[in-house]
This record gives sequence, C-alpha cells and structure tokens, in this order.
Amino acid sequence: MMETRNDEVVRDAGTSCAETTLKSAVWFLTFNCNYRCPYCWEVQRMERGEFKPEPYVDSARWVEAWNRLCPDVLDISGGEPWLQPGFIDMLEAFDDRIRIAITTNASHDLTEFVQRISPEKVFSMTLSYHPSQRMNPEFFLGKCLLLKKRGFHITVNFVTWPEQMWLLPRVKKMFESNGVRFHVDPYAATPYKKYEFFQREMDFIRYYVGDDRAHWFGGVDTTPVLCSGGMTHLNVQPNGDAFRCINDKILDKPMVGNILDENFRLNDRWTHCAEFHRCPGCDKDKVQVRKLESPEQEKTSEPLSYTL
Ligand code: SF4
Ligand code: SF4
Repeated sequence: MMETRNDEVVRDAGTSCAETTLKSAVWFLTFNCNYRCPYCWEVQRMERGEFKPEPYVDSARWVEAWNRLCPDVLDISGGEPWLQPGFIDMLEAFDDRIRIAITTNASHDLTEFVQRISPEKVFSMTLSYHPSQRMNPEFFLGKCLLLKKRGFHITVNFVTWPEQMWLLPRVKKMFESNGVRFHVDPYAATPYKKYEFFQREMDFIRYYVGDDRAHWFGGVDTTPVLCSGGMTHLNVQPNGDAFRCINDKILDKPMVGNILDENFRLNDRWTHCAEFHRCPGCDKDKVQVRKLESPEQEKTSEPLSYTL
C-alpha cells in the first residue's frame, strides 16, 4: 500500500536554505528499529532496560530545522530511519540543495521510494546486511538491484560479528558479482557483548577491511587535534541534540546545541579534541582536523574561518 502523503510536511517545507558553515551532518533520526541484531548496542541496552528510544519528532519540525541549517550532505541513519512516520514525505520536503545519504536495513517496501525520490536527491545509500535477521539473502539482493538499476549509488555494509564473520568470502562474492559495492565494519565489542578476537581471526578480517577502519587494529597516533566538528559538521540525536561527533555524545561532552531550537548556532571555530585516534568512522570522513604538536600551538591558534 502506498504511504499517505503528509501535506503538513510538504507545506512547511517553504523555509529556504540559509548560507551556513555546515557542510555535513550525521543524523540518528531514531533509535527505534524493527530488527534485533545481536551486535547492536541499542538492542543490548534495551534488553537490559537501560535504554528506551525517544518518541519520534514530528517530520515538519525536522524539515524546518534542516532547511534552516542547510548542510551540503545529510547522512540519515538510526536505528531504522524508515520507521519515522511520513519518512518519504519528509525526504521530498527537504530543500533540493541538501544531498541526502541513507543507511537502512532495507526491510521496508522500497517500491514507493524509488518512484517518488530521485537518485539526484539521495546520492548514496548504505544497505546493512544482517544475516541473523529475517530477510532472505536473495530478496535482500533483489532490493539492492532495484535501487542500483534505478540509479542509486549503493553500498552493502556487513559487520564482522563472530557468528557471521566467516561468511565474509561468500557474502562479498554474492554482492560484488552483482556489481554491488561491499563494505566491512569490524565488530566493535561493547561492554555487554565482549569478544576477544584471536590473531587468526584478526588476520582474516584485516584482509576485508578498508583503510577507513584501520584504527580497529590498533597502533594509532594519539596526537590531539583541532577539529571542525560543531562548525562544519554535526552529529544529531533523535531529540535534536547536536554534537561535534558521536564520540562527544558517548563521552558525555558538551553539545553544540539542539537544532530544533530556532536560535541554534553552530560553533564559530574549530575546537580541541584529544580523541582523534578514536574518531568514529561515520564522522571522521566528514570533519577536517589539524594536528597540534604542542599545547602552545592550541593557545595561539586563531579561530579558523571556513570558506563557503
Ligand atoms: S538493523 Fe541496525 S539499528 Fe537495527 S538492530 Fe540491527 S544493527 Fe541495530
Ligand atoms: S573524535 Fe573526531 S570528530 Fe569527534 S571531535 Fe574528535 S576529531 Fe572531531
């Protein structure tokens, strides 16, 4: 059944894109999910009663906020973003100057999406493949091909959870032999599901992992940096709270503000960070950093302007 068009969202989309320093944002639209992957920290915390996803914010409020901030790239993730009521209406209502990326488990019906949303608007899609969940692999591949043939740039993402990591050669072949890009995320052990990888397992995984996840194997540079997060990039939570990156949220560092507040302001300068070696992949490739060789350098650093 086609999703009912949400006129409220479309009408409120009139706010035009402002000129801001914001180049990119990673947006955890919701932490609700229809899957229960064993390696998911949200699932693990929910099972222990430590975490309850926030209620959905009305789509019209998100449209107002993002069209006001106008990032060049808006990377929508979750949880499962498709669970947001009126998700496709909301995508349509975003200013066309905002280029959208979506990460999804692809469990929802994609037929309406491909008919209403252009690949020019959604320039990238990451489809997370979770063998422990209920979708038949062939059907998942069928969804990948539907999107690909409609012109969407897609990547399949796969987590090296110990119970599925040895499937890597088969799974990689299944997607790549069909022309679908394949990306591997090493399982980042949580406090709830610890797992110490044997050297043999690490060596096996290393073969499949790109440079963007090299920090997982250790031996990284811990030099502090000045980071453009908060000025050119935001990480936004399901209630609108905005941080320089998800690391700041996890480490309980101050937020930049809440983007649903119409008085929200981006930082006007790059800021110090001693955690660059733990920089989360989804934010790391979007921020700019400058290494600080000494504390004096930080004190003398001029606020850096960003050329639009
Ligand atoms: S699909 Fe993603 S958000 Fe949902 S349970 Fe699995 S890992 Fe977590
Ligand atoms: S962890 Fe990375 S993205 Fe986050 S503030 Fe530090 S350098 Fe910036």
